[in-house]
Amino acid sequence: MSTAEHEGEVEALARAFARHLEHLREFRGVHYVGAAPIEMRRSQADDDDVVAVDDDDGDGEAGHDHASAPAPEMARAVSPGATPAAAPATVVEPRRPQPPDAAPVVTVVAPPVAAAPAGTSARVTATRAEAWPAAKKLAYLRERNVGDCQRCPLAATRQHIVFGVGDPEADLMFVGEAPGADEDRLGEPFVGAAGQRLDRWLAHLGLGRDRVYIANVLKCRPPGNRDPHPVEIDRCAPFLHAQLRAIEPKVIVALGRFAGCLLLGVDAPLYKMRGQAQRYREPKTGAEIPVVVTYHPSYVIRTERKGTGARGPRAQTDRGGVIKSEDQKVLDDLERALSLMRAPTSAHER
Ligand code: URA
Repeated sequence: MSTAEHEGEVEALARAFARHLEHLREFRGVHYVGAAPIEMRRSQADDDDVVAVDDDDGDGEAGHDHASAPAPEMARAVSPGATPAAAPATVVEPRRPQPPDAAPVVTVVAPPVAAAPAGTSARVTATRAEAWPAAKKLAYLRERNVGDCQRCPLAATRQHIVFGVGDPEADLMFVGEAPGADEDRLGEPFVGAAGQRLDRWLAHLGLGRDRVYIANVLKCRPPGNRDPHPVEIDRCAPFLHAQLRAIEPKVIVALGRFAGCLLLGVDAPLYKMRGQAQRYREPKTGAEIPVVVTYHPSYVIRTERKGTGARGPRAQTDRGGVIKSEDQKVLDDLERALSLMRAPTSAHER
């Protein structure tokens, strides 16, 4: 090998090492995220991947034909069994009663203070993060881990990161697809037309937004409200898993196919996920939470506009053979979520 070649190789190694250090720094103390390794910088290939698709109904809402569009490549976004990106200090201890064959539950302690980057409080890094209250975990996740996220091309077109809203101790958590135009402008999930429908559904259950937690699969708006790309889901999903680890809701409601596929780790049309007893398995801890998959509010609004719901020519019977509107089917699903939430733990198995 010539000297020039040797120097080139050394330089390449140094660059790779610097990238690795940057990655470790980002994930130091971030054990809420810690699932799949995440690329820290956008590549040109990713930039080229951005394809704007017009909002088909002009409502400015994310979420297109959630019930009938082709199934996305979703399962690989789940990364089951992935190891933390950087875990210099971990202890294993039981957190909750587990069935005998359940995966061991790992509680991760923040790594040694010496590993802290400049400007980080030593006390924060030394804290046993797993013992923090949910609100603190979420705040840390938002500020230190999500930060000014540049992990996917959506960073270039977003106005705001839409992290999540609601009660960090909520028993019921809603997961949508991605922010739309209004959410991107205001930085809060479900504040546009879909949000108004969700608020109505919550009111029907006797709940307000402050009694539940609401988040999305993607934290940034896909341009033109197009469907999320697999690479975007891959890179953003660890944040949703981390939110779920922090909040530990009793029941999750997946609004639409993208949320359902990610939470269940399957690639399936919505009708196959809806109406079944389902469970989310947290990829890092193995903890399981019941999931109710239902229609996305944007889809319900669209079927009403197009007249393809209960009174339309393609009216479908629901379980039990009764013809119901999509809106009514969602209300039924939500009632089920509520009774699961109120039932003793063993009833979640049903
Ligand atoms: N659609 C979603 O899936 N999420 C939002 O926050 C808004 C619309």
